[in-house]
Amino acid sequence: MRKDDCIFCKIAAGEIPSETVYEDEEFRVILDLNPASKGHALILPKDHADDIFDLSDKDKERVLFVASKVASAMKEALCCTGINLVQNNGESAGQTVKHFHLHLIPRYDGDSAMVLWKPGISEPEEQKRIAMDIKAKIK
Ligand code: AMP
Ligand code: ZN
Repeated sequence: MRKDDCIFCKIAAGEIPSETVYEDEEFRVILDLNPASKGHALILPKDHADDIFDLSDKDKERVLFVASKVASAMKEALCCTGINLVQNNGESAGQTVKHFHLHLIPRYDGDSAMVLWKPGISEPEEQKRIAMDIKAKIK
């Protein structure tokens, strides 16, 4: 299902033009308008989902397959030396467009495309508690 006021629904449906690198029944993959690196692309499901919590099981299953297909093409076409897969959910995580999308960010030796997180310090007892809390909620 599409959402009327959603820009990514319109792009995914082809109603707003985009630089499309791949399309099938369920997904359109486009170049990001403000790329973090050369070739930065977004995988958009054609069915609207706000975020990962809202995504259909069918699209969940297929999205990594599409990512791997496009990533392989990027490697050949762009000669990138790495690719980051990034997927933001919620404002606190940096999501600015509320239609699920998976970023494919090609990386080149020595680039500064992305700031990775600063590794923290873990405390074994706390880690054990956290793992137990999450495990208990797995459905
Ligand atoms: P996020 O911050 O994870 O929600 O990412 C949204 C991404 O969508 C950003 O990287 C934007 O540059 C990109 N973006 C926003 N509008 C468009 C558009 N019309 N066409 C292509 N990319 C877009
Ligand atoms: Zn949408």
